[in-house]
Amino acid sequence: MTSLADLPIRDDLRGLTPYGAPQKSVRIALNVNENTHPIPEAVAQSIVEALAAAILQVNRYPDREFVILRDSLANYLGHGLTRDNVWAANGSNEVLQQILQAFGGPGRTVLGFPPTYSMHSIIASGTGTRWVEGTRDDEYRISPETAVRWVTETSPDVIFFCSPNNPTGTPLSLETIAAAYDATDGMVVVDEAYAEFAQDGLPTALSLLAGRERLIVSRTMSKAFAFAGARVGYMASHPSVTDAMRLVRLPYHLSALTQAAAVAALAHTPEMLAMVDDIRTQRDRLLVELPKLGYTVHDSASNFVLFGGVSDPHALFERLLEDDIIIRDLSIEGHLRVTAGTEAETTAFLDALGRIAR
Ligand code: PMP
Repeated sequence: MTSLADLPIRDDLRGLTPYGAPQKSVRIALNVNENTHPIPEAVAQSIVEALAAAILQVNRYPDREFVILRDSLANYLGHGLTRDNVWAANGSNEVLQQILQAFGGPGRTVLGFPPTYSMHSIIASGTGTRWVEGTRDDEYRISPETAVRWVTETSPDVIFFCSPNNPTGTPLSLETIAAAYDATDGMVVVDEAYAEFAQDGLPTALSLLAGRERLIVSRTMSKAFAFAGARVGYMASHPSVTDAMRLVRLPYHLSALTQAAAVAALAHTPEMLAMVDDIRTQRDRLLVELPKLGYTVHDSASNFVLFGGVSDPHALFERLLEDDIIIRDLSIEGHLRVTAGTEAETTAFLDALGRIAR
């Protein structure tokens, strides 16, 4: 039997493992930081109507420049951005991949700060970009000094920040991003997949874009917009950076159906984001209740909580699975991560945890 190892695969991909969040059919799935609320019925109806209109023209290629979608996204982001500042792809994973195709690649490096989103290093491998790791300060923070020290020591071509950081929930200060930007000639990417879950008024790196042509802010409709299955990620940057994306994207990469669905969803932004407050409430509840059960928590500006004090994370993960609840084991010593679900899901998780001896 031929296995992967027998194939003439690229040397730098030999022995690597793919992204591996387990896909299990369970009653309560709090493992991949989805928005567990379904989208409102009325919005679903409106999206279906948009899809019905789009399918009638599916014999034609879609708008390669997805202009209406870029207008909608720019309008949503505000900050004086226009369609020229916006780019989109099939999930922010694809946006990040295109960034490394354009600015990383063989002979180039990307600096990241683990523990962070596992796909950052996997996308680095896929694009032949060398992944170099900086370290974080206490409580997973990154001070401006720490960022500058790592940038100076490693001279990366691209820097990946993640704010709020997955899997720790930690927000990143604008001072750190600005200091790293000033310390490098490379591209600075801030992955803000979870930005909408941050406390009101928490600053976003979008406010740093003016005058910083090497800064990219990446966002997604997968989380706050409850649109993970539709695969829509996007970024904001100087227009010249979106021109770089055009060099590496495949023509017509965003299907007509994806564009139609996303534009229809964005036309209902307030309804689509209506559950964000509720999710924050459930996250705050996890932050209060987990310590009462004897666990430690890391402050989170996101829709998930990393908790510690777990004597055997794998055993607890498996024990919860017996109760039809899946959370995430990220191999961080003594820790597990749980997504804030609906009130009922969060209650079920906390109740199950309360029944299980620590
Ligand atoms: N960035 C971060 C930090 C994430 O956690 C995720 C999803 N888990 C993504 C990007 C990718 O999301 P998508 O491709 O669905 O936009």
